[in-house]
Amino acid sequence: MSVEESQEINLEADQELRIEVENKNETVTIELKTGMAEIFGTEIVKGRKYVFSTGAKIAVFTWQGCTIIYTGRKNSCYTAKETPMMFYLNCHACLEQLRQKAEQDNTRGPVTMIVGPVDVGKSTLCRILLNYAVRMGGQGRRPIFVDLDVGQGSISVPGTIGALMVERPASPTEGFSVQAPLVYQYGHVSMQKNPSLYNMLVSRLAEVVQDRMQANKKANVSGVIINTCGWTKDSGYKILTHIAQAFEVDVILVLDQERLFNELVRDMPSFVKVVLLPKSGGVVERPKSYRMEARDGRVRQYFYGTTSLPLHPHSFDVKFSELKIYKIGAPALPDSCMPVGVKAEDYLTKVVSVQPSPSLLNHLLAISFATSAEEDVIQTNVAGFVCITNVDMDRQTMTILSPQPKPLPDAVFLVSEVQFMDSH
Ligand code: ATP
Repeated sequence: MSVEESQEINLEADQELRIEVENKNETVTIELKTGMAEIFGTEIVKGRKYVFSTGAKIAVFTWQGCTIIYTGRKNSCYTAKETPMMFYLNCHACLEQLRQKAEQDNTRGPVTMIVGPVDVGKSTLCRILLNYAVRMGGQGRRPIFVDLDVGQGSISVPGTIGALMVERPASPTEGFSVQAPLVYQYGHVSMQKNPSLYNMLVSRLAEVVQDRMQANKKANVSGVIINTCGWTKDSGYKILTHIAQAFEVDVILVLDQERLFNELVRDMPSFVKVVLLPKSGGVVERPKSYRMEARDGRVRQYFYGTTSLPLHPHSFDVKFSELKIYKIGAPALPDSCMPVGVKAEDYLTKVVSVQPSPSLLNHLLAISFATSAEEDVIQTNVAGFVCITNVDMDRQTMTILSPQPKPLPDAVFLVSEVQFMDSH
């Protein structure tokens, strides 16, 4: 019996078809036959086929009702009658009002931060709100998307934070077009590893985003949507309040965590609007192994692109002497060993030279816009990434996988904890 078949699925208004492509080499194809539908806020086009492959977890939602032609395993989809989309649309309407007010008063539009524990749909809500903003055709909205999730972020490779001006809705299959993002290198996939560095980078990114908004009226009026990590307790909570302060947020949307909502209402100044929102029953919990694979997939996509937009990276050897490699954060010394006036935290944001060795194998290196360690390397954004695919101690060379051909720029290279096994 074939499990893969085409079927017509009718959705009534406010319903969604949830799809999870789990099996290896499995695909699901969606085609809108009648009515209107959207995928996380992006309208889908009638008659066009959208193909989703392994790992995709999406929902086709309709405000008006529609018919969809679904081709794929029967068990990979189900229809949901209950969704929180009306709450999310209301949030968009409120943000849009604030944007209109900002336009009239020539001030800054709403800066919105989305928080909540892991797997509640934070990234998805960011995408929906950004899509709805840019879909406001005549208004010419250009919201800035800030992704501070160092584990599962969607602007650059894992271990980074970044910002992106959104000009058009995300592709239903590939997300937002990421051209010329502003990226800062953190180097770890969890905030716990170096909160001092993380906070420093957040403050810097906030400053630069603010400058960019001041230089672009449309972006300024449209405001910012900030995605955060799912660590909301103890130091994680402190980090969230730091983000709120650094970006001077106006609105905080809390997904599915009353404790966090109450704490933020208590601790935020009264002009910050804190709103508790339900999570969607469709949000899929992702085990550790899935998260690791997803991270790997993002790095692969960085170098090799996607099926519809493949990239062809270069591989070449460079001499050890041609690369200036550094890492951020020296091993902390006990307080008693510290020079007078130096705190242990200062070591966490120190730029230290790294000698080439086999331990660098498979590590990503961020290419800083700084050209020497004397510059403010931490506060400088990065131009891109390369990966070390071989270290030859005898010949004193390394093989580098790079989006650009040789030669490498004369820059500071920052080691990331993130590793990538190039299996191409
Ligand atoms: P993290 O803990 O990594 O920060 P998150 O809270 O940002 O996660 P999302 O990434 O938005 O959560 O959602 C988790 C997964 O659930 C994603 O793969 C997303 O595509 C999927 N998802 C979200 N909403 C739905 C839905 N309504 N139907 C089906 N899948 C969904």
